[in-house]
Amino acid sequence: MSVSPNQDGRCTHCVIPRTAAHATFNDDGVCDVCASAPPQSNMSEDKVRENAEALRKNIERIKEDGKNRPYDCVVGISGGRDSTYLLHELTRKHNLRCLAAYYRTPFTPEKCHQNVLRLTERLNTPLVNMNISQEVHQKIAREMVVLWAKTRKSVYANMACAECKIVNGEIFHIAKKNKAKWVVYGSNAVESFGGASWRRTSDGQSEGAADRRFSFSRQMSRMLKIAQKGTELLVLSPALWKYLWLMFRGSILYLSPDTPYLKLRYHSIHVLHYFYLAGWTEAGCENALKEVGWELPYGSGTSWRADCNYAAFKDYLFQETVGTTYYDSLLSNMIRNGMITREEAMRRLEVEAGVFPEKVKAAMDILDLPEGLSLPTLSTNDER
Ligand SMILES: [Zn+2]
Repeated sequence: MSVSPNQDGRCTHCVIPRTAAHATFNDDGVCDVCASAPPQSNMSEDKVRENAEALRKNIERIKEDGKNRPYDCVVGISGGRDSTYLLHELTRKHNLRCLAAYYRTPFTPEKCHQNVLRLTERLNTPLVNMNISQEVHQKIAREMVVLWAKTRKSVYANMACAECKIVNGEIFHIAKKNKAKWVVYGSNAVESFGGASWRRTSDGQSEGAADRRFSFSRQMSRMLKIAQKGTELLVLSPALWKYLWLMFRGSILYLSPDTPYLKLRYHSIHVLHYFYLAGWTEAGCENALKEVGWELPYGSGTSWRADCNYAAFKDYLFQETVGTTYYDSLLSNMIRNGMITREEAMRRLEVEAGVFPEKVKAAMDILDLPEGLSLPTLSTNDER
């Protein structure tokens, strides 16, 4: 069923639904992020050249620093799309000697686990497992979903992912243990929820510049904002006091590889955010996936975030409380970045978006939720 852009219940520029709790809309039906976003031509040719030059220098430095060491860098992999793309580029394109660090979460689909084994074998990359407890992860996720069902507060749906934040600490730990001087990350600017990276900063610049975005001072102020928000949450949700350490660890210590804590603790290890300099393209990603024989896990409608069944479960919870999904945000960011048109995003929403019942059910099996929990009705894809 196709609907005209003005009547489809979404921002007329991007595809953020009008039901999204975090968005406001002006009289023309444009969401606040699009209204304040820099124009699509934001990335000038000069900037592209500048990034390419910065990337070249970084890769050179990584190789230089890797001399007489067992590895040039450590890369975290999940069996999902973007970490596969990253490891492929680093080994095949730049000939870096990578060490792959992997955490198989309770929510990693079997196919993604197989993807990890196949990928590291084909790229001839040694693989180490992170020391994170699946059992603790499952237990925390379960408790958080129970709290979500009682309160309908999205903070609990997010807190279920707290154990995955330790991944950032583990990657540095593994780098140190293996004497690697660099860790390379594969996040990219189109992934931010709610389009945070497209909002103009006070000086009117976009936040695309990796050097400023990940700077120590920026991260310090971010940390203070998170601490303030955390305090507000504790006042609103007393049940969270029990999880104070979990919140602190997940948000202050290990939220990203750029937290002041990680920078200070592992001051001799450098971080490269590869796709912020190299540019992330869908075509490049698909090509890499094909080359290494990556397979889409059962029940996934899109390769994005296919590596985590809880991500699908969270979208299912979010659709009710937040009125939008991460996939809406991804497509909207791609539109703002000039990567796809709004028409294409709408077409993709019809086939790829929504809640994937098989994945939600797989997550529910793992969560092993108590009887009688009040959860949203799970509609199948046909009913969408
Ligand atoms: Zn918009």
